[in-house]
Amino acid sequence: MADYIYLLENRLSANQKDALEKIRAVVRERGMTLFLVGGAVRDLTAGTSVRDLDVAVQGNALKLKKDIQKVGGTFSGEYEPTQSLFFDFPGSVRVEISSTLGVTYPKPAKPVYKPANILEDLRRRDFTANAMALSLNEGSWGLLMDPLNGVADIENRELRLVSNYGFIEDPSRLIRAARLSARLGWQLEERTRARYETAKEEDYIANLPAWYRGYELEEIAYEEDGLRVLRHLENEGWMKALMPAWGPKVVNATGLDDLRDKVGVLQLQGIFPDASAIAFPLLTAKLPPKDVATLKHSFPRQAFVEAIDGMEAQGKTLATEFTGKSAAAPSAAWKLLHAAKPEAVLQMVFAAKSGSSVQNKFKAFTAEWPQARLKIPYALMLEMRITPDLPGYDELVEKLFFELMDGKLSTVEEMKAYLEPYSPPAPPPPVNLRRPRAAKKESKRAKKAAPVVEEAADELIASGDVGIEIADENLATEINEAAPEPVKAASAKKATPAEAKAAEHAPAKKAATTPAPSKKPALPATPAKKAAPAPPAKAAAKKPAPAPAKKAPAKPEAKKPVPAPAKKAAVPAKKAAPVKHAAAKKPAPPAKKAVPAKKPVAHKATKPAPKPAKKAPAKKAPAKKR
Ligand code: ATP
Ligand code: MG
Repeated sequence: MADYIYLLENRLSANQKDALEKIRAVVRERGMTLFLVGGAVRDLTAGTSVRDLDVAVQGNALKLKKDIQKVGGTFSGEYEPTQSLFFDFPGSVRVEISSTLGVTYPKPAKPVYKPANILEDLRRRDFTANAMALSLNEGSWGLLMDPLNGVADIENRELRLVSNYGFIEDPSRLIRAARLSARLGWQLEERTRARYETAKEEDYIANLPAWYRGYELEEIAYEEDGLRVLRHLENEGWMKALMPAWGPKVVNATGLDDLRDKVGVLQLQGIFPDASAIAFPLLTAKLPPKDVATLKHSFPRQAFVEAIDGMEAQGKTLATEFTGKSAAAPSAAWKLLHAAKPEAVLQMVFAAKSGSSVQNKFKAFTAEWPQARLKIPYALMLEMRITPDLPGYDELVEKLFFELMDGKLSTVEEMKAYLEPYSPPAPPPPVNLRRPRAAKKESKRAKKAAPVVEEAADELIASGDVGIEIADENLATEINEAAPEPVKAASAKKATPAEAKAAEHAPAKKAATTPAPSKKPALPATPAKKAAPAPPAKAAAKKPAPAPAKKAPAKPEAKKPVPAPAKKAAVPAKKAAPVKHAAAKKPAPPAKKAVPAKKPVAHKATKPAPKPAKKAPAKKAPAKKR
């Protein structure tokens, strides 16, 4: 079974989700319960895009009118008998909010409604595929209610009447059956088909209520392929009942094809218009104006009529701006089109005459300007440490896109200069992992240390192994005393050889592989004064001794007994014991050389942890000397 929580999150557009959230908040405030119903649940289940949102509330939906307007819904019509409200939400999201109702038909096409719960409400609907609900309530969000097994009919791509008397009770369902099967390509289920044919023969459609006639006529205008639907309805004989003057013959088919192409072009640019208000004049192109007026008048959502009538002016206004001075720069024109109402953009583009300035500029918008994306210097940015994890990175990329679009950055030098203020400083030099207060004692200790210590230590440091064991008891004690508290505690506890070994390797490795902390700064919104340049590596080497905490690994080792030379051969190359052992016996080395802290820090800390094999020579060297 489909995961409806996932579908609700991922298959609705951002604008649809936004509209649902706003409605939810209003309904929750009123203490009512809310369900997504009808075509939205059908389309989510079938995996097709959701055209409009139908929701049902337990309670009187008409009472929500003002509250829904307050949260951004533009009221576009209502139908009292079913307590239905029609709204348009931003982003051309059509929403119908109805009360959950039960219905009886004392006479054909004369429904009597009464309040009911959601399950009863589903039984008053037309086809099983449309008789499912999804809870939008806290605690049961995404729960599917499907009392008539609509899911099975959706899988079979069939329209099955909910009630055996469905077509007699409400003849508009005949039109709905034809319209939906034309759009979805579904069949009528066998018995439904038989009833459909009977309905035709018996002329049930003669009882079609005026409101439903208007509703179904308006629905044709919302169809993505209105002409196909009109043809099918005409073939089925339903246009005679709906509006005899309207049909495929009065349609501007070429214009509709052109419009569809333009919609596709805009979609590729991330602009998603609802084409219905622009398509309507094409669908009724050769219909006498009087009939067009009658048709419009029959629509329940009069806001749609206003949208149709206002389209041309919207397109013209946008065209003036688009070709005007304020949008002279490509980036300005680009921003204008992306900020404008998608329908206005479509109208402008659709109405633009061949060879006109609007059309030429629009060609650049679709073909030429997007090329700027390909010129964004990602490699250079990386080189300059401008990476996607930096806050403000996306904004910078967008700014670059516009600069490139406007032809302001054409050479690498120009790009470098532009990016310079955004380039974060190089990471601070890595911390020296060696003894904290060693500097103080170094000359004293150096005298005691054997020369071999110096050599061996140098080798070890060069190889990245900082976990040197210290054979000299006094030195070890001193270092321990100098260390911070937790480290002292660790070293005070006599470690087993295994523990000592683990302690020796783990921290040293970490220190060697972890680069020095460098919290990446946020990119400045505007090119601000550049941060201080990164200190060169040489300067880093001259930095004072590192933080004591980093020296922790050395302490457990210091107390570790020096292993016997015989055993050393078997010890992995990382073990520094032989060095220490030898060092203890050697004469004191020159003070200068005995201080490993003077080694270039950056080099040591950034070096990856050495592999044991590579360290073997370091072990052998002192042995030879001995
Ligand atoms: P779409 O909106 O994709 O065209 P839809 O099925 O949602 O298809 P709507 O006109 O939006 O159609 O109606 C919403 C729901 O209201 C339907 O799915 C159906 O459950 C119910 N409905 C609409 N008209 C009727 C009717 N004449 N009889 C019974 N139920 C109806
Ligand atoms: Mg619908």
